[in-house]
Amino acid sequence: MSRIVGIDLGTTHSLVATVDSGIPLVIADARGRRLTPSVVHFPSAEAAPVVGHEANHVRVLKPAETVYSVKRFIGRRGPEMAEEEKAVTYPLHCAGGPVTIPVHGRDLLPEEISAEVLKKLKRDAEAYFGEPVARAVITVPAYFNDAQRSATKRAGERAGFVVERILNEPTAAALAYGLDKLREQSRIAVYDLGGGTFDLSILELDGGVFHVLATHGNTRLGGDDIDRRLMDFLAERVAAAGGPQLAGQAAEPALLSRLREASEQAKIRLSTETEVEIALPFITLDFSFRCTLTRAELENLSRDLIARTRTHCLRALADAKIEPKDLDQVILVGGQTRMPLVRKFAGDLFGCVESPDAAASGRPRLNTSQNPDEAVALGAAIQAEILSGGFKNVLLLDVTPLSLGIETFGGLMNVLIPRNSTIPIKAGEMFTTAADHQRSMLIHVLQGERERARDNWSLGRFTIEFEPAPRGMPRVGVQFEIDADGILHVLARDVKTGREKIVEIKSAVDVDDAAVRQMVEESVEHAFTDLAARRWVEAKLKAEQTLAATQKALAACAEEIETDYRRRIETAAREVEKVLAAENAESGAGDLKSLQAALAALDEITRPLADLLMNKAAETLLRRRGLVA
Ligand code: AMP
Repeated sequence: MSRIVGIDLGTTHSLVATVDSGIPLVIADARGRRLTPSVVHFPSAEAAPVVGHEANHVRVLKPAETVYSVKRFIGRRGPEMAEEEKAVTYPLHCAGGPVTIPVHGRDLLPEEISAEVLKKLKRDAEAYFGEPVARAVITVPAYFNDAQRSATKRAGERAGFVVERILNEPTAAALAYGLDKLREQSRIAVYDLGGGTFDLSILELDGGVFHVLATHGNTRLGGDDIDRRLMDFLAERVAAAGGPQLAGQAAEPALLSRLREASEQAKIRLSTETEVEIALPFITLDFSFRCTLTRAELENLSRDLIARTRTHCLRALADAKIEPKDLDQVILVGGQTRMPLVRKFAGDLFGCVESPDAAASGRPRLNTSQNPDEAVALGAAIQAEILSGGFKNVLLLDVTPLSLGIETFGGLMNVLIPRNSTIPIKAGEMFTTAADHQRSMLIHVLQGERERARDNWSLGRFTIEFEPAPRGMPRVGVQFEIDADGILHVLARDVKTGREKIVEIKSAVDVDDAAVRQMVEESVEHAFTDLAARRWVEAKLKAEQTLAATQKALAACAEEIETDYRRRIETAAREVEKVLAAENAESGAGDLKSLQAALAALDEITRPLADLLMNKAAETLLRRRGLVA
């Protein structure tokens, strides 16, 4: 079996790593550099793309043909892109379909650009080993949806890799920190603030296995946002000093790129220095700019951005049903966590102490022992080693960010796999038909936290055919399986004939983490109305069944019942129908109390009819068996 490498395909930087004689290490390029900027420059329509540092250098000069931060766009569609996300120095096509990047007359998908970065890492790995490398584990933020995961996998395949696993970044990081060596039941928070994404994941070590108890994050929050704040701040200072307009639409792309580079460099240096000088020589032929920036100024500019991570942390803790004091460690991942303010913020938020013997204090340890830029890649390499048969004692399990299910009678959501379930996972249930002689069943796959199907996201639909039979007779087993890459496979099987259909659901709906957050928030906000709607639908289904059964019974016992009794039953049935007819078409709900009362009255009045029907049925049975005359 050929070797497997671990790859951190980052927003700003990408890395390739391996395990050499039991020791994980990042593979450097020919010039000894371990971080490859995730930047691709396209010199012309014919020339091969330039990747990494070389591309980064020409980014200032050729902003329109140099693509960076493409991870923000991978697997995403135009309409879901917020305006501020489109603020890059190269053109973007954000029409109805997938986001594309027009370069030299070609419309490139983000995954095609990521594939160029992956090809470069592949070449570096092959140069290091002196042999072809064709298998990889690639990491993604925990909040990536199916479409983003699938697009990342395709990027790997385009680069010539067999992608053995798509792995969540925080889970990889925990491995790199060696947390599998902690005592059983240890709980760890992974605080990952990179260039473009933030994730907070809570892991638990149990029986030598990592479980992700909960994960929450934002794929639009990271160091890039701090850079932008600083850019705006500097642009104002340049304008105040009589320089040209560097911010907004009027700004020249090349100047914007220079400003961005200067801002990021200043930010990085301020992690170790308390004051830096920023120079932007010859912004125009006769204007140069120079100023001093202090760490305190940078902190004031970025404090609220960093504070935005707080709600995600609290949400993950709430989902995991734990408090900060229940954590053993908080580990930091992502280049931006080198910033002292970020470290302080994370430490304070979780009430950490920064010493290895934190346990004695009963508070979590803030563990900064690993290089936050490399942890994810090293973890991916460790996972690769596990897949190759090494490090046998560790298993990785991730969780589903939202519930998955199918639409059932009355337009309700029937959850098969609840939110925050550990994956890989398989779950199934048996369903039947609502009407007589149905020939097929529509399997409508849903994702979300709402009670009614229409309020959730539709991931896809397909039908399964079977032989017509009375209502409730056909039995269709529906099974959901989420594989280790987080991709959902839906199987529907008609039990009688064994006929089955398997559908892979991955990118039918492209959603982002903001939408996931919105879904969760809306489910809380609408909890009462949703519950009322579910109760109404359930009562309505019961009412419809009772009405149909009453009609059948009246027909079957036509000769035995008196006109007056029949009228009273019909009046009670009409009462039920009246309440049903008054359903609000828009909300799909009605007066539950009146329905329950009308239904109870109908039940009460039809009791003698039901008895009569039972007696008749028993009599028929006995007669058929020849037991009565
Ligand atoms: P990552 O996505 O993990 O590669 O993180 C990249 C982000 O970390 C970028 O926004 C970088 O500017 C930022 N970064 C890298 N090194 C440092 C540092 N020493 N101090 C502050 N931010 C940093």
